[in-house]
Amino acid sequence: MRWTSGDRSNVEDYRGRRMGGRGMSVGLGGFVVLLLLSWATGTNFLSLLDSTGDVSNDPAGSSGSVASSPAEEQQVDFVDAVMKDIQDTWSGLLASRYSRTSVVLFRDAIQSGCGLGESATGPFYCPQDSRVYLDLGFFQELSERFGAPGDFARAYVIAHEVGHHVQRLTGIEARVRAAQGDDPRAVNPLSVRLELQADCFAGVWGHTASQQGRSARGQVELEPGDVEEGLQAAASIGDDRLQRMSGGRVAPERFTHGTSAQRVEWFRRGLTSGQPDACDTFAGNTQ
Ligand SMILES: [Zn+2]
Repeated sequence: MRWTSGDRSNVEDYRGRRMGGRGMSVGLGGFVVLLLLSWATGTNFLSLLDSTGDVSNDPAGSSGSVASSPAEEQQVDFVDAVMKDIQDTWSGLLASRYSRTSVVLFRDAIQSGCGLGESATGPFYCPQDSRVYLDLGFFQELSERFGAPGDFARAYVIAHEVGHHVQRLTGIEARVRAAQGDDPRAVNPLSVRLELQADCFAGVWGHTASQQGRSARGQVELEPGDVEEGLQAAASIGDDRLQRMSGGRVAPERFTHGTSAQRVEWFRRGLTSGQPDACDTFAGNTQ
């Protein structure tokens, strides 16, 4: 991939924020009291914790005082450049229906709008605060543990999460959640369709990024071999493979993301068409 560093306006850097570092002075009892007060009065007293720099809002975390290596700083620039390009692409496709967001970088654990986010869970999108969460350590895991090295594999992961953002903005996510609420048996199958669509949306961006001449304009441009890296990444994080890796049998009823073959197939559909319309994973069979 070819890319150029930007101004980092597409990332929020919370790598230096330590969960509970100097914040636990309130204690569990105090926390429960604040929670009850908030519940009883409808005022969020927990936000007091934030304003005093407690628990989750250590300003040092975003001021760049984080211990980091030049290699890691380059990864931050990479995430920012890729995120900008993905968002520019969706702004073009959805016009005013797209609203920009950012990638929240963290280490180990972070308090998100969706509760505690941990590195072990992998990157995720939180619909409640419309942000993508990423621990850069996942990139290493992607290459060493899942056997999907390369910068486009990393970009694919970010593009997949932005795909969830697009699903939220377009109301697809809300419709799926409602349908899941109506029918518990549909929870996993619908989750698979949602995930496969995010893969397809990642491919839509890949299609744009593969156009020639982009790099000369300061945009991300794919190079030969990049698409294969992305497909490899899609194949390496299928539910069937993950279940096998964790030592268990393959249990399709527990699938939430789709098989490796399905993920590759839908990523490829987005990639070849470049059209979000080609990503209707909710019609007919998922293959
Ligand atoms: Zn997903």
